[in-house]
Amino acid sequence: MTTLDSLVIGAGQAGLSASYHLRRLGIGHVVLDANDAPGGAWQHRWDALTMRDVHGVAELPGSVPPPRDGRRANAAVPEEFAAYEREHGLPVIRPVAVRSVSGDDELLVETDRGTWRTRTLVNATGTWTRPFVPVYPGRDAFRGEQLHTVDYPGPEHFRGRRTLVVGGGASAVQFLGALAPITDVLWATRRPPVWRTDEFTPEAGAASVALVERRVAAGLPPESVVSVTGLVLRPQEEEARRLGAYDARLPMFRSIEADGVRWADGSFERVDVILWATGFRPAIGHLAPLGLRTAAGGIMLDRDGRGTTAVADPRIQLVGYGPSASTIGANRAGRQAARLVRRFLRGE
Ligand SMILES: Cc1cc2nc3c(=O)[nH]c(=O)nc-3n(C[C@H](O)[C@H](O)[C@H](O)COP(=O)(O)OP(=O)(O)OC[C@H]3O[C@@H](n4cnc5c(N)ncnc54)[C@H](O)[C@@H]3O)c2cc1C
Repeated sequence: MTTLDSLVIGAGQAGLSASYHLRRLGIGHVVLDANDAPGGAWQHRWDALTMRDVHGVAELPGSVPPPRDGRRANAAVPEEFAAYEREHGLPVIRPVAVRSVSGDDELLVETDRGTWRTRTLVNATGTWTRPFVPVYPGRDAFRGEQLHTVDYPGPEHFRGRRTLVVGGGASAVQFLGALAPITDVLWATRRPPVWRTDEFTPEAGAASVALVERRVAAGLPPESVVSVTGLVLRPQEEEARRLGAYDARLPMFRSIEADGVRWADGSFERVDVILWATGFRPAIGHLAPLGLRTAAGGIMLDRDGRGTTAVADPRIQLVGYGPSASTIGANRAGRQAARLVRRFLRGE
């Protein structure tokens, strides 16, 4: 079995950016991706999410941004990615699910389709495959339906059913905007929602990213960049606002019962559906044998959390992780990771 100079896991924005730059630097590599088709996590997003609804998808390196029109994001972005992979001849192999990465002198990448050997690794596995649902007493006793963002089937599914949306992020805001005009909704958040009233300037964006960098530098599990940028209402959410959908019920419910939830003050709320818009965790379980995690549960990255190299093992780059978990951040991280792979291979 030959040993590659590098191997990228994941063909989303982060993995394609890394592959593009590795190729430009002449570094032999493959990209292994668990999906059947191009598009990273975008191919799994709900049908009602159009390119106009998303906050702005950055262009891949050396291309142009996808147009902000009424097309479905789960079709438009995958088409862009497919064309990009073809145009740049990126060496993506799919579907290949990586199960574990281990090794001493060389890295052994074990998958459902055999084992690859590599000198360096760029991990670009995103978060979509690790939806997070918090534990509340009684969660399993609920007789209604529970869904997570990954399962969101579009608003019609909820018509006429009293729906509790849980979570204080952008997804919750979008779900409430779509559901409030057609059904009875309630919103539960752990903390008061943080609304952004100022312009979203590049400085404000950099400040949000810096917050996540500090966590990663300390080896803490990263928060999502979107969660620290603050929430905004768009014109399509105006009707929901008028209907009072954004008056979050605080503090959070304390338990779940068969037909609803029990609030902290002891009062009961009947609900038919709980929609958990409670985010994701980084999909990094396959890296466990490398022992990269700190006791605090995160992976410490170099340059005070601004870099892409795992402090515990300089052969490993993490892109789309923590501060680079946005399309623009993933682009930059891909370029940086490719340069650092080259530096490592040269023994610098
Ligand atoms: C609803 C929603 C809307 C968003 N809107 C925006 C926006 O408007 N602008 C923006 O900048 N960001 C947005 N984001 C965030 C943005 O989508 C992500 O930061 C970015 O697309 C992630 O790219 P990625 O390459 O890191 O991950 P992904 O796109 O998730 O790609 C990861 C790839 O790795 C593969 N993979 C995972 N595990 C394995 C494994 N073990 N073996 C092999 N392959 C594996 C997956 O199959 C997948 O193809 C949004 C996120 C959500 C949830």
